[in-house]
Amino acid sequence: MEEHKCADCEKVFDSSNSLKQHKEAKHTAQTDEKTKKPGMDKTKLIIYALILIIGGAAVYVFASSISSSPRMGAIGSTHEHVDFKIYINGNAINFAQQKYQLAAQYVHAENGIGTLLHKHATGVTFEDFLKTVNMDIDENCFKMDDGKKYCNEGDKTLKFYLNGKISDKSKTYELHDLDKLMVSYGNETEEQLKEQLASITDLAKAESGKKE
Ligand SMILES: [Zn+2]
Ligand SMILES: [Zn+2]
Repeated sequence: MEEHKCADCEKVFDSSNSLKQHKEAKHTAQTDEKTKKPGMDKTKLIIYALILIIGGAAVYVFASSISSSPRMGAIGSTHEHVDFKIYINGNAINFAQQKYQLAAQYVHAENGIGTLLHKHATGVTFEDFLKTVNMDIDENCFKMDDGKKYCNEGDKTLKFYLNGKISDKSKTYELHDLDKLMVSYGNETEEQLKEQLASITDLAKAESGKKE
């Protein structure tokens, strides 16, 4: 006589039908549970991961919204672009250098480009940018990030240009979309200054036209 033995519990049945019934009754649920359990653990893991991701994102957004001055809006409150150039004794400071890139969230040069400022918060001034890279400016002096000061002295003068014109607003000027800025310290001739002004890039227009 043919033996109908359950492979799971070794119980013997007299027909294949009763074995089948037994299997369905005793072992199906168990196997279900066996497959369910890891499934539930996976769900739990996914939930934990989601909590971590959402929590992390919340912390990030919160941290990002802290700007350095109450005068400034939140990060993302604007997105404007300004072409700029800073000459010290005829040499342009290279803001494409890593140490000058993305120095702060609210204003920065980025993407390895050193002649375009991205303003990401309202109220940000040119001086705010300079401070993010440890430089500063006032009516008399430009301070480099190595601490060296370049001040009005003899025929060497500090000049701030806003859209091609000399301006005395170097300290208070709020960056404004598509403006062109230049700082020049030295004893350059009018002709040389014109060349410096002409060297300011024209990247802001295309950058601000982008939908981001
Ligand atoms: Zn940016
Ligand atoms: Zn930008």
